[in-house]
Amino acid sequence: MSKVRALVLERQHELAIRDIELPQEAGRGEVKIKIHTVGVCGSDVHYYTHGKIGPFIVNEPMVLGHEAAGTVVEVGAGVTHLKVGDRVCMEPGVPDANSKASRLGMYNVDPAVTFWATPPIHGVLTPFVVHPANYTFKLPDNVSFAEGAMVEPFAVGMQAATKARITPGDTAVVLGAGPIGIMVAVAALAGGCARAIVADLAQPKLDIAAQYQGVIPVNIREKNLIEEVNRLTDGWGADVIFECSGSPKAWDTVMELPRPGGVIVAVGLPVNPVGFDVSTASTKEIRIETVFRYAHQYERSIALIASGRVDLKPLISETFAFEQSIEAFDRAVEARPSDVKLQIVLDQ
Ligand SMILES: [Zn+2]
Repeated sequence: MSKVRALVLERQHELAIRDIELPQEAGRGEVKIKIHTVGVCGSDVHYYTHGKIGPFIVNEPMVLGHEAAGTVVEVGAGVTHLKVGDRVCMEPGVPDANSKASRLGMYNVDPAVTFWATPPIHGVLTPFVVHPANYTFKLPDNVSFAEGAMVEPFAVGMQAATKARITPGDTAVVLGAGPIGIMVAVAALAGGCARAIVADLAQPKLDIAAQYQGVIPVNIREKNLIEEVNRLTDGWGADVIFECSGSPKAWDTVMELPRPGGVIVAVGLPVNPVGFDVSTASTKEIRIETVFRYAHQYERSIALIASGRVDLKPLISETFAFEQSIEAFDRAVEARPSDVKLQIVLDQ
């Protein structure tokens, strides 16, 4: 442990850039990474504004940030697939490799998982971080640090697309055009959907989503989504529905959207329990899937970005220097509809 600079959430509503004790030496199986770029995530902002997310409460100062890319500067014993100088991005959640969930291949739902910037685990808005090499992924030369820091939110979209079990040519509906909704639409299109009907109330968000070929934006202030989906699918319904708004209202009518035998993937997390239309779901034999973060999605995400088939650069709205981190968070709190992802660059 030694004292280093970091963006620290002292308590709800109070951020500081100050020194804090953090591990700085790579042990066995670990690498030390010089952090280059960190994305500001909705969860980081939520801890800032609310001091908690569900059962996770900020009881002591915590370093924020979990969407990161950087360069390996030290390699611990036993690490063979990475070397000093490799450009990498990191998976923020580290499970117990021997847990039952991990052995089932669902390490994302391991109750023992530790996740950056989820109390009491520190995040990575600090110049260096030590991380298990097994959760550190090399970036190809044509993938920038900025794109590397987008892999974490994109992996959520990839998990949703994977859970949907998309068939080539499927029609998807994405409810909510926030950062995750757009990531889900992009992943669904990359995964074989012919089109993604993206619904939101905010036109600037829809305009950003509509930059992607295959996205059909629907402003639900102006149009009835069920009618639009029926019109576009000749009354049959969509194959896959991704609920990314987290709005309880979305669940009132979501069962009207899928075709018989279609799937609803719950991505957004409503704060309170929602009504669930069992009869309609059963009559249509609708399959329901859920998503919690991601498992085994980093390499696939990086491969799609490197291939050029997924371009996340249009989603980076603005970049701040580390010294402007608090400004970046206050900007994120504003939740401008034209902002998708704000990033902080530490290593210029
Ligand atoms: Zn995130």
